[in-house]
Amino acid sequence: MTARTGRVPYAQQRPRDVGGGVWSVPVPIPGSPLGCTLVYAIESPGGPVLVDAGWNHPDAWEALGGGLSALGFDVAAVRGVVVTHFHPDHAGLAGRVREESGAWIAMHEADAALVRLMRELGGGQAGLRAEMLRRAGAGPDDVARATGERPAPPAAPDRELRDGDLVDLPGRALRAVHTPGHTPGHICLHLEDAGRLFTGDHILPGITPHIGIYPYDRDDVDPLGDFLGSLDRVGELGPLDALPAHEWMFPNAAARAAEIRQHHEEKLARLRILLAERAQPLTIWEVAAMMTWNRPWADLPAVPRGMAAGEAAAHLRTLEVRGHVRRVSGAGPVRFQALDS
Ligand SMILES: [Zn+2]
Repeated sequence: MTARTGRVPYAQQRPRDVGGGVWSVPVPIPGSPLGCTLVYAIESPGGPVLVDAGWNHPDAWEALGGGLSALGFDVAAVRGVVVTHFHPDHAGLAGRVREESGAWIAMHEADAALVRLMRELGGGQAGLRAEMLRRAGAGPDDVARATGERPAPPAAPDRELRDGDLVDLPGRALRAVHTPGHTPGHICLHLEDAGRLFTGDHILPGITPHIGIYPYDRDDVDPLGDFLGSLDRVGELGPLDALPAHEWMFPNAAARAAEIRQHHEEKLARLRILLAERAQPLTIWEVAAMMTWNRPWADLPAVPRGMAAGEAAAHLRTLEVRGHVRRVSGAGPVRFQALDS
């Protein structure tokens, strides 16, 4: 993620009525500079529906339950949890809410498929990650550092959503808008009766979401290309008030979508120049080490370094799809080279 402006510290955030029958509850993400996930509760005659649930941690659970009850809701009355995407700061507590209330959990079918895969792989994910890093040109130290503990996969959903589906929310109109990029099944949720858009991590006011490609050397998907298309998709919805999952609410989701698109186009242009200056094809790891991050490459710990490599890979793949670079596959790690054009 790229920082643009300051963030509101978790300690300064409170559960609150944000109007239109919507409430927000900040739920801390322990140890994360992001601070918290903004969980939203939407009122309905059939019980509140939550948009996202927060990280699975005792402090987060206490903040969610305490926040809901401060607003007059009981976690046991929650009707459902619609998850914008499968990441642990969004889907982590959904299973716990379901245990307490019998709520359904809904997410897009593409992220539901990933959750099933993660649950099947279990501990096997570390080996796959090591292999992916090697194929990207990472050295043994980076491979060893990147295979540590990861959060457990989230609960499997009861309901799968597709683009355009209405969420089960009696008396309201909450529609899923498929916005792949940050994850393949990321959705924004358009509260049509209130002119609002829950943007998840797709569009945030001060930072841009992580867009990576995993495994790094995949050539059958283009997450950054998908993300840019998803930004245009939000642009087409018009100047809706945005309710993001982090940071703060802001007006005109479409205008922010256009800014983020510009940010990535500039990053793609810089990467193209950087590749054109080198005669030899470069590994993903070499490219990532040459790009600009929020800290010098040498100072990036294993997880952010792995994410930076994922971002580099996603930008390389989009340049490849656009015909500006070619990949060189052989015995060693995959490499990329600029094409004259
Ligand atoms: Zn998030």
